[in-house]
Amino acid sequence: MTLPPRKVAVLGATGSIGASALDVIARHPQALQATVLAAGGKVEALLALCERHRPEHAVIADPACFELLRDGLRARGLAAQAHCGDQALVELAGSDACDTVVAAIVGAAGLDSTLAAARAGKRLLLANKESLVLAGELLMRAAHEAGATIVPIDSEHNAIFQCLPDAHAHAGLKRILLTASGGPFRGRTRSDLGEVTPEQAVAHPKWSMGPKISVDSATLMNKGLEVIEAHHLFGRPGLPIEVLVHPQSLVHSLVEFVDGSTLAQLGLPDMRTSLAVGFGWPQRIESGVSGLDLLAHGKLEFERPDLDAFPCLRLAFQALAAGGTAPATLNAANEVAVSAFLQRRVGFLAIPALVEDTLAALPPTPASSLAALREADAQARRHAEQAIGHAARTLRA
Ligand code: NAD
Ligand code: MG
Repeated sequence: MTLPPRKVAVLGATGSIGASALDVIARHPQALQATVLAAGGKVEALLALCERHRPEHAVIADPACFELLRDGLRARGLAAQAHCGDQALVELAGSDACDTVVAAIVGAAGLDSTLAAARAGKRLLLANKESLVLAGELLMRAAHEAGATIVPIDSEHNAIFQCLPDAHAHAGLKRILLTASGGPFRGRTRSDLGEVTPEQAVAHPKWSMGPKISVDSATLMNKGLEVIEAHHLFGRPGLPIEVLVHPQSLVHSLVEFVDGSTLAQLGLPDMRTSLAVGFGWPQRIESGVSGLDLLAHGKLEFERPDLDAFPCLRLAFQALAAGGTAPATLNAANEVAVSAFLQRRVGFLAIPALVEDTLAALPPTPASSLAALREADAQARRHAEQAIGHAARTLRA
C-alpha cells in the first residue's frame, strides 16, 4: 500500500523532535513534503533547514528576526515565503498550506498553534505535551469536533496508542502503566541532589532531547506531565494511570486488561519510531530506526519511582486530582523554575519547591475557558518569578 501524500508543517523545526521529524520526512520524498517550517529564534538553523527541505513557508516566532529570515531566503535563492510572529504560526497551522502538523514547540508557547491545527481538523502529531497539560479538555474537544486525528508522539503515549488503536480496544482496559527511565539521577537520595548542575541534569542516559524536557526528566516532572497527558488522551473514569521506572527505556509503556493480558510496545529509544507511526498510521513506514535485539540488551528491569527524591511526580498527581486550573499552574511554575535552573539562578531542588509553593499559593479555579487557563498560567509565572526574586534578595541580604 502506498502512503497518501501529506503536506507537513513542522512547528519547532530546529529542535530535537523537529530534526527527527525532518529525518523521517526525507526518507519518504514521494509521500511526505515539509511545506511549513517554523522555529522560535534560530534564524541560521532555520535557513539551513529551508535550503535542505525547500518548504513553501518559513516562520520565525521572534519578530526581531524577520528581516534576517526574509533576506537569508532571498540570498539563498529560496522561494519560501517568510513570516514572523505567533499569529502567522497560528494561521499557517490551520491553513491549506498543510494537512499534517508536527507540534514540536517546547512549552506553553506551543498551545495556540497546536489548538489551531486541532480546530482545523489536521492530522496532529502531538509532541508538545505542555499544551495537553495546560488545556487538555479544550484541545481534545476541539480535535474531536473538527475531526482531527491526534497521534501522540511522546514515546509512552505513542506506545499506548499502538496498543489501543481504537475505542473498541479500550473495552476491558484495567490500568495504564507509563514507563520512566528514571533520568540521570536515578538511585540518588534527595540530599544528594542539592548541588547538581544543569550540565549533569541535561545529560540523559538514554534519550537525546532539548534542554527543558531533559531537566523535566531529571526531576521526574516529565513523567508527571505525561500522567496528565495520558489522562487526556486515554483516561476513563476510574482507570488507574501508574508509573514504573524502567532504566533500559526499551518498553515504552504498557496497558493491562481485565483478562490478565498486558500489551506493551518495545523499541530502541529513538523518537523517529513514534514520528513514523504518526505520519504513516494505520500504515507502517520506514523510520531509520533498527529493530530491537533483545539478546544483545539482555535485561529488562522495573522499579517503583522514588517520590521522596523526586517530588515533582507526586505534585503532578496532586494537580491532576485537584483538577481545574491546577495542572496549568503546575506547568507554568515548572517552566519558570526550569528556565531559572538552566540559567543558574536557582538550584535543582528549588524546582519542586517553587512548583509546590505556587500550587499552594494559587488554589485551583474551574478551567471553564481558555481565558481562565491563560490567566492561571500568567499568575503562576508571576508568582514563581517573584518567589525566585525574593529568594535571591534574601540570600544577598
Ligand atoms: P527543543 O528545545 O529541542 O526544540 C524546541 C523547538 O521549539 C525549537 O525549534 C525552538 O525554536 C521552538 N520554539 C521555542 N519557543 C518557541 C516559540 N515561542 N515559538 C515558536 N517556536 C518556538 O525541544 P524538543 O526536545 O524538541 O521538545 C519539543 C516538544 O516535544 C516539547 O514539548 C517536549 O516535551 C516534547 N517531547 C520531546 C521529546 C524528545 O525526545 N525531544 C520526547 C517527547 C516529547
Ligand atoms: Mg516521554
